[in-house]
Amino acid sequence: MEQNISQSTIEIIKKYNFVFQKKYGQNFLIDGRVLDKIIGAAQIGPDDCVLEIGPGIGTMTKRLAEAAGQVIAVEIDKNLIPILQEVLGEYDNITILNEDILKVDIPALVEQYNGDRPIKVVANLPYYITTPIIMGLFESNVPIDNITVMVQKEVALRMQEGPGSKDYGALSLAVQYYAEPYIVANVPPNCFIPRPKVGSAVIRLTRHKEKPVQVKNEQFMFRLIRASFNQRRKTLQNALHNMNELSLTKEEIVDALQTMGLSETIRGEKLSLSEYAKLSDLLCKE
Ligand code: SAM
Repeated sequence: MEQNISQSTIEIIKKYNFVFQKKYGQNFLIDGRVLDKIIGAAQIGPDDCVLEIGPGIGTMTKRLAEAAGQVIAVEIDKNLIPILQEVLGEYDNITILNEDILKVDIPALVEQYNGDRPIKVVANLPYYITTPIIMGLFESNVPIDNITVMVQKEVALRMQEGPGSKDYGALSLAVQYYAEPYIVANVPPNCFIPRPKVGSAVIRLTRHKEKPVQVKNEQFMFRLIRASFNQRRKTLQNALHNMNELSLTKEEIVDALQTMGLSETIRGEKLSLSEYAKLSDLLCKE
């Protein structure tokens, strides 16, 4: 199977004189076992509508179309569109859109194709825009069941870490606020053409039915979190005080830390999501 995908990928590239564009993060997956793991982890069934970001030459799109009710594939590279149209020609449940996913009105797209029912998102992501894509999906409040994506291995680790780890940061907290992360598989560079310089991993983010913490002002909490990790080496007190946009006095910060029973010298990387939510409620004046 792997040999077939690798061969057919090379044949398609030759046939269309396709030139890989580094700026679009084009590393095509050529390992059938990894494709199976992605499709299995995403738990796709015939009633599902799947949004695929960056279908490339359509290798994964075919499998998605066979498992799902319908697939919407959004590809930025116009040179890939004729290839996709030919390779996927026999499927009548795939819509190919030549768009930049960061500019697409995803809620409108999902409503058009799936009403208010939740979709599943599957992608071998272009690594240069992993975070804006994932955060954009969560923050836009599109109805989503889960997001199953290939990302850089380090990024997958960061998404699932907790307080105290060196990989724990703003991304971990943001992802865990919206979803339950689960690393499905580690994927070495030889599973792609061309080979990326970094290791990869498939991660599934299952959206929480209910948020794990309640917070009065979500935006303020995320501003606090970003401020804490922007100056990681500083104490939380100094990092927050130095952020002018928050307009917090040292006294207010120390009072809040004391109310929570936390040390005045604690660093942001020690706080859990629920502690950030509490701190945010204590400090938010809006
Ligand atoms: N899904 C294919 C596979 O697994 O072989 C290709 C994955 S490749 C890592 C990333 C794909 O995303 C490429 O086809 C690239 O052109 C596309 N892409 C990059 N930036 C994009 C964007 N902003 N919007 C939509 N597609 C994008």
